[in-house]
Amino acid sequence: MKFHVMTLFPEMVEHGLNTSILGRARQKNIIAFDVVDIRDYTLDKHRRVDDYPYGGGAGMVMAAEPVVRCYRAIEEKILASGCKKPRVIYLTPQGQTFHQELAKEFATEEELVFLCGHYEGIDERAIETIVTDQVSIGDYVLTGGELPAMVMIDVIARLVPGVLNNGESPEVETFHDNLLEYPQYTRPEIFEGKKVPEVLLSGHHAKIEEWRRRQSMIRTDAVRPDLIEQANLTKKEWEFYKNYKESQS
Ligand code: SAM
Repeated sequence: MKFHVMTLFPEMVEHGLNTSILGRARQKNIIAFDVVDIRDYTLDKHRRVDDYPYGGGAGMVMAAEPVVRCYRAIEEKILASGCKKPRVIYLTPQGQTFHQELAKEFATEEELVFLCGHYEGIDERAIETIVTDQVSIGDYVLTGGELPAMVMIDVIARLVPGVLNNGESPEVETFHDNLLEYPQYTRPEIFEGKKVPEVLLSGHHAKIEEWRRRQSMIRTDAVRPDLIEQANLTKKEWEFYKNYKESQS
């Protein structure tokens, strides 16, 4: 899978995507990054990419021309490689909020293009011309789209087969089945007087699995009751959850 990132700060994105698990996956050619400097596509002799907003107001706005020219160069490369026209994601606090299911949907694409805004944002005509999806990473405003793009790429990339090592499965993590993950423990067995739950030392896989599912339900109920209503539980698990709730009231 290939991630194209359109940005005014390519070095920031390059550094962010080159470490740890993503860096390893890139080296193994499981994923690829194409970080493109929008400034390379300005026709302005001073390499300016922003201008004052029409109608006045605070800040500067990224001009449409360099953004659209930059995208067209990327699209040309993608189409020449035999891939279809890509989805183009504009990172914006005005977009739909990013979540795990959306990440799964994006992870099925061969190529994705991310457009990072800066300053007061991007001329609306560029967005109308090239963007297919507008995505926010949360209800707060950052200075630029670079961190949001890296957040999205990190989440999507780890769903691409081969990016995680064997055994690191996204199938048993928080949000799978609309549950938060169970508590995790590692050595030592006793830390500052706190002991690892006995069942985890039992070697009894079915009992461990049952304990983990129950802990997930209890934790989700406490922290994210909105999720548990849509949780994918078996009849027996719903029964446990009902009894647990009754015992709490
Ligand atoms: N004036 C814009 C508004 O009120 O909607 C905010 C511009 S913000 C200062 C600059 C850029 O940061 C945006 O164009 C966008 O690319 C990015 N950005 C800021 N907050 C974001 C968020 N929550 N999710 C995704 N991108 C965000």
